Amino acid sequence: MAFKAIRGFKDILPDESPDWVLVEDTARAFFASCGLQEIRTPVLEKTAVFTRGIGEHTDIVEKEMYTFQDRNGDSLSLRPEATAGILRSVIEHKLHANTSVLQLFTMGPMFRHERPQKGRLRQFHQIDVEYLGTDSPLSDAEVIWLAWNIVSYLASGELRLEINSLGCPECRPLHRKDLDIYLQNNGQQLCDDCRRRAKTNPLRVFDCKNQECRKLLLTAPLMKHYLCPGCAQHLGLVLDTLEAFNIPFVQNPYLVRGLDYYVRTTFEIISLELGAQSTVAAGGRYDGLIKDLGGPDIPGVGMAIGVERLLLLLEERQGVEPVDLFVAMLGKDARTELLPFIAELRNRDISVRYSFDDKSLKAQMKAADKAAARFCLIVGQDEIDRDIAILRDMDSKEQREIELDSVVQEVQKLIFHEKDIEP
Ligand SMILES: [Zn+2]
Ligand SMILES: [Zn+2]
Repeated sequence: MAFKAIRGFKDILPDESPDWVLVEDTARAFFASCGLQEIRTPVLEKTAVFTRGIGEHTDIVEKEMYTFQDRNGDSLSLRPEATAGILRSVIEHKLHANTSVLQLFTMGPMFRHERPQKGRLRQFHQIDVEYLGTDSPLSDAEVIWLAWNIVSYLASGELRLEINSLGCPECRPLHRKDLDIYLQNNGQQLCDDCRRRAKTNPLRVFDCKNQECRKLLLTAPLMKHYLCPGCAQHLGLVLDTLEAFNIPFVQNPYLVRGLDYYVRTTFEIISLELGAQSTVAAGGRYDGLIKDLGGPDIPGVGMAIGVERLLLLLEERQGVEPVDLFVAMLGKDARTELLPFIAELRNRDISVRYSFDDKSLKAQMKAADKAAARFCLIVGQDEIDRDIAILRDMDSKEQREIELDSVVQEVQKLIFHEKDIEP
């Protein structure tokens, strides 16, 4: 019997990896430009970290988590997102104590038991940013700046940044009260899910895809009309900063996060090229969450980029990573002579492959092609007797003889010239 990967879990194959490296390297470059630090937390946490950190009345916690009892009877869950685990770690190690603002990022797999479809897997990957310890609108804008830059640097097609304010514990209850009344008065027009949501988590009605519900929401009370002066000013400063950064945005008063500790700024980056799963990045401010998880009362704002969705939009496919040099060797003497040179070239940052088996020249040249080698060295018994090697340019197909003793210098010169590196 041949095994297959679990449904919704996908292998990232060698010819796909260069695209992943490109996405990760791009993100790291932008993070370095803002002075972020990397944190890596376990994929497995106590279930309570997520029920508290994400909220009990959310689809994620209610229906989508991989939760099980371990051999000690503890309830554990695979992380469905990155924030809760990072905050658990920050609190546990008091990372916030020695610095005014923590600027953290992580990247890695997350797990949700959803119905798999294009752009949605059960093991999926996120690039995640958390800024902790500041409630300045500038930090909201910087987190959005990072998301926007990483996504727009890599993605083809039209992108849209949508932004909204969810208010704060001061002004939100007024909106909530009017929304409750509105939903009660119009309850018969809501779908079954929304009738339930209206009781547990009314803001989530705004996420409903049902046409009737959407129609009803067109005339529902919107948070933007209830913002207190502090929240209105915060939003204004975030938008001003985005303008200063030259980032185009649209305000979407229907954009919500259905959790109490999400406050003020919330945003999404949407691709107009993708179908149903069109959100490439999302985030927002969550000032009450760290305290809720048993930590100090410090504010936070963060974002996550969906790597699989970004890969669907990648401007240029990377293809096979080429190797600098392939060494085709025929016979035992050739190997004895060439292996030290191969080691020396690798020490000088030149990538080298060669055939491990004693194959024909034709087979070795085929392997060189497959490795996308830029140059090839060909050495058989005849060349060893004459103290030379044949150097072949795999693009132009030109060949010339070089002295065996100068192989390392000659190859290094060529490759460095090719890559524009100072020797
Ligand atoms: Zn407010
Ligand atoms: Zn609905």
